[in-house]
Formats: sequence, structure tokens, C-alpha cells
Amino acid sequence: MNWLSRVRNSLPFGNKRETPDNLWVKCPGCQEMLFTKEYEENLQVCPRCEYHGRIGADERLNQILDVDYEVLAQPEVREDPLKFRDSKKYTDRLKQARGKSPLRDAFLIGSGSIEGRPAVVGVQDFGFMGGSMGMAVGTAFCQGAERALSRKCAYIVCTAAGGARMQEGILSLMQMPKATVMTRRLRDAGLPYIVVLTDPTTGGVTASYAMLGDVQIAEPGALIGFAGQRVIQDTIREKLPQARHGRHGGLASRPARHAGDAAGLPATREGGVTVPSSQRKLGPLSTRSELAARDPSFRWDDV
Ligand SMILES: [Zn+2]
Repeated sequence: MNWLSRVRNSLPFGNKRETPDNLWVKCPGCQEMLFTKEYEENLQVCPRCEYHGRIGADERLNQILDVDYEVLAQPEVREDPLKFRDSKKYTDRLKQARGKSPLRDAFLIGSGSIEGRPAVVGVQDFGFMGGSMGMAVGTAFCQGAERALSRKCAYIVCTAAGGARMQEGILSLMQMPKATVMTRRLRDAGLPYIVVLTDPTTGGVTASYAMLGDVQIAEPGALIGFAGQRVIQDTIREKLPQARHGRHGGLASRPARHAGDAAGLPATREGGVTVPSSQRKLGPLSTRSELAARDPSFRWDDV
């Protein structure tokens, strides 16, 4: 509610505003005004241009898991061990982020089932300090993998991150090998580890668990990279060409997943999704030659 509405509604005379402020939402993709209800019913995907809006961790768990799932308590880790301060104290930044979000940190785990099949789903929330990976995120990732190991089920992780959390220095980078070891443990146990890359997935997260899935899926239009566009531009002092977003297969649109054909995989008789073993070995984003084979105009340098 803006200041004008506040003043208007506090006046004892005159009509109260009937229409809520959030009736319409502007699509960041095509700038069209959309009915919020229509946008939400379409799982926050623009029905006109297919722009996939960024969504919070709890919302995504609701979309993916069957109704009666359990949300794991977010791990408590030692906070601000480096006593870091830039323009603001790290502890103040954390406080501020927790004030704006229902989360304690940027990674949330749901344990339940997807269309009746047991699954553990981990979701990174870009809304919490840019989804950055610090000790809490690394620990939560491992907690999810442990739960999948004990339940002997698939571990699905939806990534969204600006990278490692710089306020935790080397301790944030140490989350990369820690998470990588857990993906190996899942592999050794023969359990599928599936990564859904959402907008944006960059930095240390891309350099570790986001790229280690047995199956890699990306939401249409998701920005995926190692160094962000701004970092590269500042380094080479040149403007980069228009980013080429994930249009090279392995895409899963949210409404399509709900229709039971995630990533174009064949549906089972029960309406679930099977992953053929050939696709399990070849993650859609795995090699340069695969990308080139799919799209002859593809140039690695464009990514
Ligand atoms: Zn749109």
C-alpha cells in the first residue's frame, strides 16, 4: 500500500478504495499487465510470453511436492565467524533478510512425495540475500541429501543463487566440496540426484552442486552462468552481447510439469515421469558437442 492509499483509507469520510493494490502484476518479460490471479494460477508463468517469474522456496515446494510434505528445520550454524563488515555488518544484513523473508537462510528442504513417489526437494531462495551459498546453505544441502539417503529416494534441488556468500569468505567456498561429496554419496547409493536450474544460477553454486545432477533441467529463460554479466563487463571493460538464455533443450516449464510431462520425459501409466537410462547419463546441459548437435548455430562463446 503506498502513502496515498494509506492517507485515503485513514480519512473518516470518502470512499475506501475497493480494489486491492495487488490485483494486477506487470510481467517483467513482456511488460504486459496481468491479472495476479491468472498469473498465480499459471504458477507465476506469464501466459503471454512464458516468462517464468522468480518464486520463493515455500511456494516452489508447494508447487512440486504432494500436499502433506514435511519442511525440515533449517540448520543453525555459527553466525558471522569472520566478524565481517563492509558498508554494513553481516549480522545486520542477516537480520534484515530475516525480517523480509519467512526463512532463516536461503535453502529450504521439503521431504514428501511427488505424485505418490517419495522425494526430497531442496529449494534455494533468491529472495534471501540473493540465494548466496554460505555455511547455512551448504549444511542444509547436505541435510537434504542425508534425508534422501535415509529414505532411499531421489534428491531434487532447485538452484537459484548469485554465488558464494562473500561475507563468509573461505568458509563459503568450503561448501562447494562439502556438497560435492554428498552428491557422490547419493551416486554410490544409486539414488537419483536431479537439478532444476532456475533464474538465476551463477557463481560457486554453478561451480559445484548445480552442475552435478544425474539429470539437469532448466526453466525456460533462466540465466545460468559462472561469473555474472556485470562482473565480466567490469573486468574486460566491454559491453557483452545480449545474454543467450537456456534455449538448448532440457527445459521444463512449470505448467508442463503439472501436466505430467516434465522435461518432455514420457509419462508412466500412473501419470508419473520415467527417466530413460540414456538420458540419465547425458544431462541436457552436459557437453559442448551435445549442445552443438542440438542447435547447429550454437556457439559456445555466446553463453
Ligand atoms: Zn510476459
